[in-house]
Amino acid sequence: MSLCNGGLMPNKREKAHRKEILHAVREDERRKVRNSLPAAVPVLKALFSYVDLQVRSVECDHTLRHVRDFIRSQGLPEDAVVGWLKNNGGYCDCEALMNAEQVVQEAVPGYDDLAPTLVGSVNSGPPNSGNSGPPKEPHKR
Ligand SMILES: [Zn+2]
Repeated sequence: MSLCNGGLMPNKREKAHRKEILHAVREDERRKVRNSLPAAVPVLKALFSYVDLQVRSVECDHTLRHVRDFIRSQGLPEDAVVGWLKNNGGYCDCEALMNAEQVVQEAVPGYDDLAPTLVGSVNSGPPNSGNSGPPKEPHKR
């Protein structure tokens, strides 16, 4: 049957093509996100898991209280991490989860399967590809 010879096919192909372009753009975006992360992905995942647990038991108080707690307990570069979260829509604990974690999740393939890792246990070197180097900011105390 060749009833719909003219209409549908090119349309479909056009759609697929546009999808391809979209995909390329998104891959580029993802790479940018991955390169801009303030800490190793498993550490960020540990951060989000921690905050997730906290805001489940105590309602978010519209600050980054738990985020900062975790950052300090792990000795992460606070300004870098908080700045990154805010850039990605995370102005409080629950927004960090809803917005910033989403960004990481979309940018990092296999994020859901990653095991959250605390800073103390990644000293031996980054476990994955290593395209997000260690933050270069000097420690200020
Ligand atoms: Zn909140």
